[in-house]
Amino acid sequence: MLRGLMMDQPLIVSSLLSHAARFHSDTEIVSRTIEGPIHRYTYRDAEARAKRFAQALARLGVTQSDRVGTLAWNSYRHLEIYYGTAGMGAVVHTLNPRLFPDQITYIVGHAEDRVIAFDINLAPLVEKLASQCPAVKCWIAMTDRAHMPAINVPGLLCYEELIAAESGAFEWPSFDEYAATCLCYTSGTTGNPKGVLYSHRSTVLHAYAASLPDVFACSAREVILPVVPMFHVNCWGIPYIAPLNGAKLVFPGAALDGKSLYELFETEQVTLTAGVPTVWLSLLAYMKRHGLKFSTVRRAVVGGSAAPPAMIKEFRELYGVECQHAWGMTEMSPLGTFNVLKAKHRALSRESQFAVQVKQGRVIYGVDMKIVDADGKALAHDGVGFGDLMVRGPWVTSGYFKGEGGDPLVDGWFPTGDVATIDADGFMQITDRSKDVIKSGGEWISSIDLENIAMAHPAIAEAAAIGIAHPKWDERPLIVAIKRPGAMVTREDLLKFFEGKIAKWWMPDDVAFVAELPHTATGKLSKLTLRQSFKDYKLPGT
Ligand code: AMP
Repeated sequence: MLRGLMMDQPLIVSSLLSHAARFHSDTEIVSRTIEGPIHRYTYRDAEARAKRFAQALARLGVTQSDRVGTLAWNSYRHLEIYYGTAGMGAVVHTLNPRLFPDQITYIVGHAEDRVIAFDINLAPLVEKLASQCPAVKCWIAMTDRAHMPAINVPGLLCYEELIAAESGAFEWPSFDEYAATCLCYTSGTTGNPKGVLYSHRSTVLHAYAASLPDVFACSAREVILPVVPMFHVNCWGIPYIAPLNGAKLVFPGAALDGKSLYELFETEQVTLTAGVPTVWLSLLAYMKRHGLKFSTVRRAVVGGSAAPPAMIKEFRELYGVECQHAWGMTEMSPLGTFNVLKAKHRALSRESQFAVQVKQGRVIYGVDMKIVDADGKALAHDGVGFGDLMVRGPWVTSGYFKGEGGDPLVDGWFPTGDVATIDADGFMQITDRSKDVIKSGGEWISSIDLENIAMAHPAIAEAAAIGIAHPKWDERPLIVAIKRPGAMVTREDLLKFFEGKIAKWWMPDDVAFVAELPHTATGKLSKLTLRQSFKDYKLPGT
C-alpha cells in the first residue's frame, strides 16, 4: 500500500478554540451569569482564560487523563473549563445537577473525579455531595471572591482567584488524538448510569460533520444560543462546532424560562438555537401569551425526544422559524441524523413536505445506520417496516467506561434501543423506544404516534401514551394528558380526535388528565415513572 504524504497532525480539541481565537478573535461569547449581569467577551479572551485554567489545574496536581467534573449551566466559564481541561490532556466530566444526589455521588465515584467545578447556585447541592465524595480534593466555585458561597466544603477554591494567579503563558500540548477528552454518563433508566468516553478525534470529527450544510449549517454568520445544557451530551457538540466556524455564542446560564430566553434571543440577535421539546413548548406558550415574535431566529433544532409535529408547525406558521428535527444519543456524541429536505422535495406540497420534516432525519456522513428484525436481519428502507435501529461510526461508542455492562456491540454495530423505519430517501423515523412500545395482541403500537396526535389537539399542552395491562390484548394504550390553561376538553372529545387518524386497533382505550407529567433529568418524558404510577390503572371494561 502506497502511503499518502500528508502531515501527521492529530485532531485535538484545543485546536478548535485556537482557530477561533486567531481567526475570529473579536467574535463574541455572551453569557447570562449566575451572579446576574450579562457577561461578554471574545474568542481571544476565552482561549487566554482557558489556558490559565489549564495552568491552574496543573498547579492543583491534575495530570493528563485525570477527570475534572463540572456541575454547571451554560456559560463562558464552563466553556473555559471544557477547553482548559481537555486542552491540557485531562478529561472534562460533565455532571447533570438535575440528578438525585445519590446518583451524582455514584457517578463522581465511578469516574474518580479529582476536582469538581460548580456554579454558585448549586452550592447547596455541593455541600450535600462533598461529604459523600471524599476522593474529590478540590471544589472550585465558578465565581469571583465577592460572590463566593458561604458553604462548609473542604478544599473550596475560587475560580477567578485560581486563574488570576496564572500567567497564561502556555502552549496547548499535542498528543494522541485517541486520548479521552470528555466523559458523560447516560441517564440510564435501568441500572446504574454508564460512562461514555469521547476522544479528541471523535469530538473533532463530530464537530466537522455537525457543521455541514445539511446538519447545523453553522458558519461565521450565525449567532447560536444552545438551550441544551453543556452537561447533556456535550451540548450536542455546539461548544466545538461554534469555534470551528467562528460563530457567535450566547449562553443562557441557569435561566431557561420563556421570558429570559426570549429576551436573549432578541437582544443578542440569535439566528440558531437548539434544545429539547419541553423547553420549546414552554417558550412558545410564553410567546403566545404575550403576543411576541422573533426578529432574528431562523432555525430551532429540536432533539432528545420526538418533536411533536404540532410544535414544528407552530414554529413555522406562527413564527417563521424552521424547526429542524435531530436525533442522537449520549453514545453517539450525540448526532446521528438531522432533518433537511432534499432538492426533490421542493416540488411537493407543503403538507407532503411536512410529512418528511416530522421524521428524525437523514443519517449524517460518518454514521452508518440500519434497521433489523428480531433475528438481526436487515430490513428494507421502505419507510413502513420498522425494526431495531443499529449504528456504527467513528463517534459512536465501542463500550462503556471501565467495561460497565460488558460489550454492547452486536457484530460491530451499536444497538440504539430505538425502533425505527427508514424510507427510500434515507429519512429515519423513530416509532418508539423499544421499552416504550405498546404491545397489543402481538403487534406494536407506536406511543410516539399517539402522543403526536394528542398534542395536535388545541386543548392539550402535553401528552404521553403508555401501555396498560389488559387481560385479553396484553397491553392497551392509555393517554395521559395535561390540558392547556383554561381549555375545556373531555375524554370523549380527545378520543374522537383520534378517529380517522390511526388504525382502529391503535385507538387509545382511555384518557387520564393530570396536572403534571414526570420528566427525566434531561427533559424527556419519564415513561418509567409514569408506568409505575399507573401500574394499577383499570381500563374501562376490564
Ligand atoms: P440520551 O442519550 O439521553 O440523549 O438519549 C438518547 C435517546 O433519546 C435516543 O435513543 C432516543 O430514544 C431519544 N431521542 C433522541 N432524539 C430523539 C428524537 N429526535 N426523536 C425521538 N427520540 C429521540
